[in-house]
Amino acid sequence: MITVEEALQHVSERARPLSARTTPIRDALGLALDEDVTSDIDSPPYDKSVVDGYAVMAADLARDGHAQLAILEEVVAGSVPQACVASGSTTRVMTGAPIPKGADAVVMIERTEPVAGAGLGSVVIRDASAKAGSNILRRGVSLRAGDVVLRRGTRLRAMEIGLLAEVGRAAVRVVPRPRVAILPTGNELVDASATPAAGQIRNSNGPMLAAAARQAGAEPIEIEIARDEMADLRRRIAEGLEADVLLLSGGVSAGVLDLVPRVLADLGATEVFHKVRLKPGKPLWFGVQAADDRAKLIFGLPGNPVSSFVCFELFVRPAIERLRGRDATSGRRAQARLTKEYRQRGDRTTYFPATLSTRPDGTHAVTPVGWQGSADLRGLSAANALAIFPPGEKTFAEGDVVDVLLLDEV
Ligand code: AMP
Ligand code: MG
Repeated sequence: MITVEEALQHVSERARPLSARTTPIRDALGLALDEDVTSDIDSPPYDKSVVDGYAVMAADLARDGHAQLAILEEVVAGSVPQACVASGSTTRVMTGAPIPKGADAVVMIERTEPVAGAGLGSVVIRDASAKAGSNILRRGVSLRAGDVVLRRGTRLRAMEIGLLAEVGRAAVRVVPRPRVAILPTGNELVDASATPAAGQIRNSNGPMLAAAARQAGAEPIEIEIARDEMADLRRRIAEGLEADVLLLSGGVSAGVLDLVPRVLADLGATEVFHKVRLKPGKPLWFGVQAADDRAKLIFGLPGNPVSSFVCFELFVRPAIERLRGRDATSGRRAQARLTKEYRQRGDRTTYFPATLSTRPDGTHAVTPVGWQGSADLRGLSAANALAIFPPGEKTFAEGDVVDVLLLDEV
């Protein structure tokens, strides 16, 4: 049986970034840029006022900051000055308005007082601090036409989406979201909306894996529950193989109805590994199916929900990251001190649901939750981390430092 690290290596090697595609920026949040983006404009595109006030020649205020100036016109953002400011005159400008020719400073409105008179009248200014450049944002200080403003590989956040809009890129080349098909298998499964009859349980893995995939930045596609029989499995698996990644749940253990590996082989999929030295999650199956453009990744996740979840975190999430053009990381790691004793037994690395907290001194403390094993989703729900215990017969004492894997917040 291979180790978690070996399994992750196999997965990473086979998960290559999806081909980039031109996408409207409204759909590009969180995606990785696949081009360097240059600006087609200077920004700001013209010298502009950063306050509401009066555009003046600073020289007019040079002596003591005091002047009375005739008002030539009023310019709002979006319009263009017509008059040229000369000594003894001023143009009233609003925030964002272009600076009129001749003016080299703006005095904020709070330091002025209008005086009625012919035309627009005049204004008395008292501002000893005004000097050339005051309250003017110069053309091109943020960026120049031709500048590379975003590099290939950048993950687009809200501010990058805004920057793309600013430089005229309504669509950009990005690595798309992988489509991840989710196929629960099992004769015993009924939908979450149903009341289970004798021998039935609700399909919790389908919705859980769809949510996990969405959170990892994939586009989940939920497929109807497949029954444990060859024909139904074959049909649904073929449907799932339309996607970039297929996540099956159940049917990969050693039971008489665990038919998934066989059906996958019939459909031409190649097994890369089956079973990992991992608890929970030992039955994990991973393989690929050749396709025209790129191999499809297939994960046969164990049926037990916590096993399924742990396998998703350890292997599927990094695969999705890679397809999205990023590094394969199975979540954030930390080290923490155990707050109570933990007895490790057996030959598999254990990922035990736990709560991680930060102490006032910045160190972390970790407490395994009360957890009844791989079917206990409620126990897992009390956790915000998985505490990692290497294989072996060992009792970890309170205060021992262990590795932990942090689980996502929403
Ligand atoms: P299997 O790997 O198919 O033998 O399933 C192992 C255990 O997980 C069994 O108790 C199943 O009933 C349970 N199980 C399988 N699939 C699901 C699912 N989609 N949701 C919740 N439990 C499941
Ligand atoms: Mg089953």
